[in-house]
Amino acid sequence: MKIAIIGAGVAGSIMARGLADVPGLEVHCLERIAPGEHAESGTGLNIGPNAVQALQQTDPELAQRVAETSFGWRSWRVSTMGGQELMNLKLKDIAPVDGWRLRWAELYRVLREAAGDSIRYSCTIDAVTPKLDGSGRLDIAFTEGGRRKALTDVDLLVAADGRFSQVRTQFRGPVNARQVGVAIFRLLVPDTTGGLIDDYEQWFNGPNRLLGYRVPENSIYMSGTFPIPVGGEIPEEMKTPEALRHAFTPADGQLSDQGRWLVDLVSHPAVELHWARLQESPLCLREEGVNLLYLGDSSNGMVPTLGQGATQAVESTCAAVEIIRALAAAGQHDPALWLQAITRARQDRLRFVMDFSMEASDTLLAGADPVAGTAKKTEAPFQASLARLYNDYGVPEGLLETV
Ligand SMILES: Cc1cc2nc3c(=O)[nH]c(=O)nc-3n(C[C@H](O)[C@H](O)[C@H](O)COP(=O)(O)OP(=O)(O)OC[C@H]3O[C@@H](n4cnc5c(N)ncnc54)[C@H](O)[C@@H]3O)c2cc1C
Repeated sequence: MKIAIIGAGVAGSIMARGLADVPGLEVHCLERIAPGEHAESGTGLNIGPNAVQALQQTDPELAQRVAETSFGWRSWRVSTMGGQELMNLKLKDIAPVDGWRLRWAELYRVLREAAGDSIRYSCTIDAVTPKLDGSGRLDIAFTEGGRRKALTDVDLLVAADGRFSQVRTQFRGPVNARQVGVAIFRLLVPDTTGGLIDDYEQWFNGPNRLLGYRVPENSIYMSGTFPIPVGGEIPEEMKTPEALRHAFTPADGQLSDQGRWLVDLVSHPAVELHWARLQESPLCLREEGVNLLYLGDSSNGMVPTLGQGATQAVESTCAAVEIIRALAAAGQHDPALWLQAITRARQDRLRFVMDFSMEASDTLLAGADPVAGTAKKTEAPFQASLARLYNDYGVPEGLLETV
């Protein structure tokens, strides 16, 4: 059977490796960038304990390789820019393992190297054409290193081509994303804090929030958010060094040592911030009548508030790999059945994670009170949702027996 995966990001690389050695499967993962070109992903990210557990279960060797390039994400501390602590959560109190914090480019490097020859680089997709014979198969025309090629009679197409998925746009049109009304910027800088910043922390001045943590290779990843008009662009005047200093400095001017380092950094005229807006895409896992699976951001672009984007890409892919491997081993080679099982395993889980990430963004919205909002996050209902988030990562028990 022929499997085509478009995109060798988080989801695509894990999928390519996970299926490459399944007897009877021929896996082609088509990635648009050139080999070794991970530089565009220049910031850091934190991966939740749910993805760590999922990868340890599905591919322990790969989990070990990622762990070796990461620091442990052990705590989640929240305070005001002035230094008042509002929350200090230990992840081990909620999940049996810590999360990871690492450089994005390193994650891509490790995952792509581990997928080996299954990934074909410098490929652009020219056309994806479903067959008209009712088989659900597709033909893919693409250009590889400047030469036109084709994969015909593809039994399963996995669109792992990210938030702005070309495949999804072809089948569903441009994504109508839900805007939240929050601007976000991020950057990765050398660690000159002298130990002020280490594990994952957030600092609030009203709804304006900074977030930062140390990642390998002596760097600090940080990101900032502030409210903007819902649906509007980010006003240019809010991006100036003066506006940023003002946004993150309390009215009384009192900053903690951490706060001062962060404000000096984001308001430095030479610093280059990457800007985006918090947004969520409609959830979709597959198309009817064609063997097409959306995986990762192409399926569930979500707000990054709980650090679950890449985390869910890992979790969903581990579930998909486990399901396909188990069904193939049991002699089930019908991709429509695989898709049915994957959809059933992931639909409700992804809806929960997207809704919970949105709910947790309350403290970032215009007019929010971060002290009251953070206090709510220490209470039983939020903590119970967090326990569900970090621990309900697997394929639901008994699901495969009902396929
Ligand atoms: C500001 C911000 C902060 C974030 N922080 C976190 C965090 O801390 N923790 C977390 O878990 N997540 C975080 N995320 C989300 C995370 O980065 C994504 O959810 C994750 O990368 C999704 O993985 P993916 O495999 O679906 O897509 P991607 O990793 O985006 O991979 C898509 C791949 O497809 C390739 N591609 C795209 N189009 C084509 C095409 N037409 N043909 C061939 N190849 C193609 C791309 O080159 C890329 O390699 C953050 C996102 C943002 C924007």
